[in-house]
Amino acid sequence: MLWYSSRGCIGQCEKTGCVGERCFSHCRFLSDGASVDGPWYMQEPLYLRWKQWDCQSDCRYYCMLDRERDRAGSGQDPVKYHGKWPFKRVYGIQEPASVALSALNLAMHFHGWLSFFILLHYKLPLKADKKPYYDYAGLWHIYALVSLNAWLWSVVFHSRDVDFTEKLDYSSAVAVLGYSLILAILRSFNVRAEAARVMVAAPLLAFTTTHILYLNNFKMDYGWNMKVCVFMAVAQLLIWAVWAGVARHPSRWKLWLVVVGGSFAMLLEIYDFPPYGGFVDAHALWHATTIPLTYIWWSFIKDDAEFRTSNLLKKVK
Ligand SMILES: [Zn+2]
Repeated sequence: MLWYSSRGCIGQCEKTGCVGERCFSHCRFLSDGASVDGPWYMQEPLYLRWKQWDCQSDCRYYCMLDRERDRAGSGQDPVKYHGKWPFKRVYGIQEPASVALSALNLAMHFHGWLSFFILLHYKLPLKADKKPYYDYAGLWHIYALVSLNAWLWSVVFHSRDVDFTEKLDYSSAVAVLGYSLILAILRSFNVRAEAARVMVAAPLLAFTTTHILYLNNFKMDYGWNMKVCVFMAVAQLLIWAVWAGVARHPSRWKLWLVVVGGSFAMLLEIYDFPPYGGFVDAHALWHATTIPLTYIWWSFIKDDAEFRTSNLLKKVK
């Protein structure tokens, strides 16, 4: 029911370009049709698409503000719109706190990956063919790329929430969870043979891909997606926790920290609350907690590279 009236407002707005008294230039442009006078670039399909996205975004935002004003007037609590709480915009950015925190996460992953790369290639001894001894290097490089991609789309999505940015953010986040579950299994069970790695990865990659296709092409089901994500997150946290308990890894305390911190962070995603002052909600706080966790995590990965390299070198001698 709540959805219906909000949808009605958005549909109306996209046609007329107005919510109540307020009208948006982006939408007026669209309603004039394609044959508008103006410089050549205003006739370009991509430019028109941008306008359409801006119009959709403005309509959603002002319809949401209107509804929230009505709800607050009758003493009701805020509700979610498109899976997100009503936020106040700053310079057209929808969730400035989440944008800044996502950017910091992105920087953290880049820093971690870069220092991992320098450690492997310039500080640790290399094999005769100039390749690192660490047999999980390639898997962590892919992990870095998958994570950087996810945080990049998180920055974009929290700046401007429209269908395609939302799909890219959710899909990229699912990809990180699916991939890091594979990594958790491969590393903790010490799977090194190529064939065995493929056997572990294939079903999980198939599942992750199917889920992403489902969200994008069938139904953007926030509740179901949350269940799938929590399942994948809990599975890998458990695997790392058990491994930290069983394996005598010299840096297992860093694993413990990430497991405990990660579990608390996950609770923020599950026990959601509306934005404080219109700015900081549970999701933004969740993005804040992953910044120190990312630092500790890459620090563990680097320790693991050193540890395994020295073990492998002992075996060689
Ligand atoms: Zn986010």
